[in-house]
Amino acid sequence: MKKKVALITGISGQDGAYLTKFLLKKNYKIIGVERRSARSNNWRLDKLNIKNNVKIEDIDIKEINNLIRLFDKYRIDEVYNLAAQSFVHSSFQNPVETSLVNAVGVLNLLEIIRNKKNKIKFYQASTSEMFGESGLSNQNEKTLFHPRSPYATSKTFAHYTVQNYREAYKLHAVNGILFNHESPLRGEEFITRKITLGLSKILYNKQKELKVGNLYSKRDWGYAEDYVEAMWKMLQIKKPDDYVIATGKNFSVKQFINECTKVLKLKTKWVGKNLNEKLINLENKKTIVSIDKKFFRPSEVNILKGDYSKAKNQLKWKPKTNFSKLVKMMIESDLEYVRNNSN
Ligand code: NDP
Ligand code: GDP
Repeated sequence: MKKKVALITGISGQDGAYLTKFLLKKNYKIIGVERRSARSNNWRLDKLNIKNNVKIEDIDIKEINNLIRLFDKYRIDEVYNLAAQSFVHSSFQNPVETSLVNAVGVLNLLEIIRNKKNKIKFYQASTSEMFGESGLSNQNEKTLFHPRSPYATSKTFAHYTVQNYREAYKLHAVNGILFNHESPLRGEEFITRKITLGLSKILYNKQKELKVGNLYSKRDWGYAEDYVEAMWKMLQIKKPDDYVIATGKNFSVKQFINECTKVLKLKTKWVGKNLNEKLINLENKKTIVSIDKKFFRPSEVNILKGDYSKAKNQLKWKPKTNFSKLVKMMIESDLEYVRNNSN
């Protein structure tokens, strides 16, 4: 039987790496879109030992003509659009670039697919950030969007465009509304990895203190490797639709830090309030975590918690990794990383 061909944009990112690993096991041929040829930024594929099993094409998804040539070159069955400026904080500083990649980039891909004769299935990396301040304790596929950042508004444009192309042109196009998902391969600017790496460095005397922003926002944190399976499942069902992928539990940034100190067996105490709140290491009385205003956002998403019942019923998907297992995995990986890297 002929191998299925999957095109993965954003292959150098966290999800791109895990999805590649997953699809290779399913015997797919993988074409990966990477935007820069000058520097090799696919360390994640390297880490998973799969760098040589994929064909990499250097394309920025903002460039429609390069994408057209790519679709002419390969007979693609499934497209997983993971490419994005994915960091909410940066989107406030670079709203135009964020929107061009996250919104117009998606439109580029959908326009090409609708002009193709063969039915190409399309997965869009939608996000729980679109819910923003929903005012509800749980969010599902029917919850109204209230985006709170240029990242979220650009992803909301993409989300509705996918729905529109599905209705207008009968494309097999789906939105996976994924809640935050983390792993040892998470970018260092995101709070979970910032904490696990920061605390690991502090433990090895390679960093004095960890400075963070809002300790009280809550996220529904899952494990990325569990979530890429859901992406694939969404493209295998008969009727294309949108699905929330989450764990159904949420924790604050402070709780994430506390779980890390528990794994590290550190004796600590929180003192102070608001911008003066600090975490003290009781063994040496040193401050290990403090607050810096610069990590706060002009508008925050305070609480996210997903209801994944639809995915559970229709895709037979559920998360396998709980919060404490995820934190332990990330801490252990970063301790090893810091131990083996001198700077
Ligand atoms: P990452 O930030 O790790 O990866 C994003 C990828 O997009 C990187 O490979 C990046 O390349 C690439 N990229 C950025 N701009 C362009 C461009 N103009 N052209 C081509 N490629 C580009 O994100 P994740 O893997 O964590 O997330 C995957 C997707 O899922 C993203 O769309 C994200 O917004 C979405 N999402 C993620 C969630 C999460 O918790 N992780 C939650 C919900 C949605 P480079 O390496 O060059 O920067
Ligand atoms: P997001 O949910 O996609 O924005 O993922 P992040 O990991 O970037 O942020 C999750 C939450 O942690 C947000 O509510 C942030 O405001 C909060 N947070 C608190 N301090 C920090 C910090 O220092 N860095 C980041 N990235 N987020 C922080």
